[in-house]
Amino acid sequence: MSKDLTAYKNVWVFAEQRQGQIMPVAIELLGEGRKLANEIGVELCAMLLGDNVEGLAKELIAFGADKVYLAQSPLLSTFTTDGYANVITDMINEYKPEVVLCGASHIGRDLAPRVAAKVGTGLTADCTKLEIDAEDKKLLQTRPAFGGNIMATIICPNHRPQMATVRPGVMQKAAKDESRTGEVVTVDVKLAKEDIRTTVVEVVKEKKAKVNLVEAEFIVSGGRGVGSKEGFELLQKLADKLNGVVGASRAAVDIGYAEYQRQVGQTGKTVRPQIYIACGISGAIQHLAGMQESDYIIAINKNPDAPIFKIADYGIVGDLHQVIPQIIAALDNK
Ligand code: FAD
Repeated sequence: MSKDLTAYKNVWVFAEQRQGQIMPVAIELLGEGRKLANEIGVELCAMLLGDNVEGLAKELIAFGADKVYLAQSPLLSTFTTDGYANVITDMINEYKPEVVLCGASHIGRDLAPRVAAKVGTGLTADCTKLEIDAEDKKLLQTRPAFGGNIMATIICPNHRPQMATVRPGVMQKAAKDESRTGEVVTVDVKLAKEDIRTTVVEVVKEKKAKVNLVEAEFIVSGGRGVGSKEGFELLQKLADKLNGVVGASRAAVDIGYAEYQRQVGQTGKTVRPQIYIACGISGAIQHLAGMQESDYIIAINKNPDAPIFKIADYGIVGDLHQVIPQIIAALDNK
């Protein structure tokens, strides 16, 4: 049974926020949404979900929202697909927006298809252009197709809302005007703990590698022989003395001693520093593929037959936990 499409009005933007910060893509969507809303002649609205995020509503209004639909609950404090999809579905069913836009972020790509399925409409993912058809006011949603060889323009003729995700960085950000005024509509959140099948145990911020491995002149790299994550702190101390960067073998990354950004080798980074110090690394071909062009290779390994010694300019046979502190002490005494 087709829906009464005339009941659907307004352009809605999902105001993605993380830890109380509005994501740039949401501001881009407000910029694009303003243009679309003006062309259709309707209001631009933002949907804001979270816990204790009411302070952000003012910001969304400053970026152009006429109305902010504010859904707050401790159950929405961190993103869960079930929680957010259920609440947004209820909001769409109640307020009937004509257009719903989401950022094609990790969250948006997860959320938008589930919402579209729940409300029984279509979704065009990863749009790079949105326009309003001058004649029938439908949303023309353009996205690359067939490996980027053609641009396909897609419409959603028989269902509402018309839903699209938009790639971050494609649309222009809305300009901020603190003097703008708008309405905040508090949404009644009908969400129970049992509706959410996942539990967020912890949110861990991604640690970015301190310095770019590829541009480093000194690299102190550790392998499985380092023995622990804490062991890598010793390598970091040596790297700091040399103004260098810590690298790692894949074995060390796989066990969790170091982050992937530090991996050197065939499936990691290719490096060419002045000095590469390989600590507790056996010298597998896949590791050598990423570091054998280094100017000087120094290997520390307790096994005198380790293959790394075949390509090392200098080799130290010994336990790295004893050798590295001695090198650090020698550098301190210089
Ligand atoms: P191991 O081979 O286990 O060597 C540990 C070394 O530490 C040994 O030589 C041991 O004698 C020494 N040691 C132990 N304790 C001490 C101590 N206290 N003091 C001193 N020395 C000690 N590997 C990469 O590194 N990078 C890649 O990008 C990569 N890509 C791969 C892609 C594919 C398709 C495949 C199949 C493999 C890839 N590998 C890669 C894995 C690679 O084959 C090796 O398994 C890996 O490099 C081994 O890491 P490692 O030298 O740290 O560990």
